[in-house]
Amino acid sequence: MLQHSLAVQVIALAALTCSPAFAQTQYDLVLHNGRVIDPETALDAVRDVGISNDQIIAISEQPLSGKRVIDATGLIVAPGFIDLHQHDLSPEGMRLKAMDGVTTTLELEIGPPDVAKFLDQHRNKSLLNYGTTASHPWARTLAMGQPAKQGDIVPTSGDATNKPATAEQIQRMQERLRNQINAGGLGVGMGIQYTPGASRTEIIDAFRVAAERNMPVFVHMRGDRVESVSEVIAAAAVTGAALHIVHINSSCLREAPECLRMVAGARARGLDVTTEAYPYIAGMTQINSALFNPGWQEKILATYSDIMIPGTGERLTKERFDEMHASPKPQLVIVFNNSQSVVDGILENPLVIVASDGGPGHPRNAGTFARVYDQYVRQRGTITLMEAMRKMSYLPAVRLEKSTPQARKKGRMQVGADADVVVFDPKSFKDQSTFEKPNVPSIGVRYLLVNGTAVVEGGKLVEGVNPGKAITSLSGQ
Ligand SMILES: [Zn+2]
Repeated sequence: MLQHSLAVQVIALAALTCSPAFAQTQYDLVLHNGRVIDPETALDAVRDVGISNDQIIAISEQPLSGKRVIDATGLIVAPGFIDLHQHDLSPEGMRLKAMDGVTTTLELEIGPPDVAKFLDQHRNKSLLNYGTTASHPWARTLAMGQPAKQGDIVPTSGDATNKPATAEQIQRMQERLRNQINAGGLGVGMGIQYTPGASRTEIIDAFRVAAERNMPVFVHMRGDRVESVSEVIAAAAVTGAALHIVHINSSCLREAPECLRMVAGARARGLDVTTEAYPYIAGMTQINSALFNPGWQEKILATYSDIMIPGTGERLTKERFDEMHASPKPQLVIVFNNSQSVVDGILENPLVIVASDGGPGHPRNAGTFARVYDQYVRQRGTITLMEAMRKMSYLPAVRLEKSTPQARKKGRMQVGADADVVVFDPKSFKDQSTFEKPNVPSIGVRYLLVNGTAVVEGGKLVEGVNPGKAITSLSGQ
């Protein structure tokens, strides 16, 4: 009898230990009872999320046990936002992005002059994940014999941006682009409007380098709206490179509906073409860049008084413009040249990824992601919560999959995914930055995890943590 009783006890204990309901696994961190959103599988349900080290280990209907448990009741638990287009990756810039729910911030549009140097600057010093592209504008500047400045966003207008390149110079650009991808670049970054001397064949040759590696070209187009979409879609079609058109809002302006139809058409014909937008009616760029070469008014549909200097609010005259365009100083200016109805139509299109194009002086730097949620999900109801999370995390992760295997573990609330997680209050998540006060952080992000480490806790930035990792073409090789 005693023997039998002991056997029963042992079996009972074994059953208990093996049962998933017997949640004795202790995770480093548990996000308890939040509304978990996974855009890939369309999961939208109250769950516990178990995290250990830098990974999501469990997503459970039952309460999980953790060394630390954060009560996420009433909060949204979603994949951290991935910003494909951010220029300011300084510590201050990353702090603003963190408060906007961003866990990965990438400079893919133009890229820096030197990818290896860029990665070195951020290694072990970065609040958020970071990465960049091989830069065609800087490869061109160097091939044309002009030094590149690591701090500038785009080259100053001059012979290196405006003159046609020789066949030999184009070859040198291609060599540099290959080297820069080998250093970790996530594809080729282009700003054709900033290098107007680049011929159609030079552009196609840059696309060829991306195609050799089966990576995308991230492109700020030439500046002729529908005509420019034709140029880059043709370059993608003839080379086989994937194409990502940056800020289709400011590149297409009132022609954006047609530009989006062209992107959809290219996709329907089997081309890998994606695009992005930011939710503001004004853009920002350097006034001494080639974007403001003669003829700019017709290209960007603006005039002197549409240009504003951030901080002072000064609107330009022809005299002031001429002086600043000719200056070596890379002054950033804001250009009011779009309408709210155009911007709304773009953001609400399911093809369009949310990306900020952020830099100091424009409210998009601090507020892009919260603004999309607040304006379109909460106030107008024109984008669903699931769709917004898809535009901010899953779609950008998928865009990166040709560039790096790391992307397959991003943008997802799934077991095995990286623990890059935003926990926000659906009632209060909102942008606070304006054209008058562009550096005010968004509110409503309660917790933000980057590779399992909290960088925002209880709505406040955590000091002294740098869990951001490099996202590069080198991983997995
Ligand atoms: Zn741009």
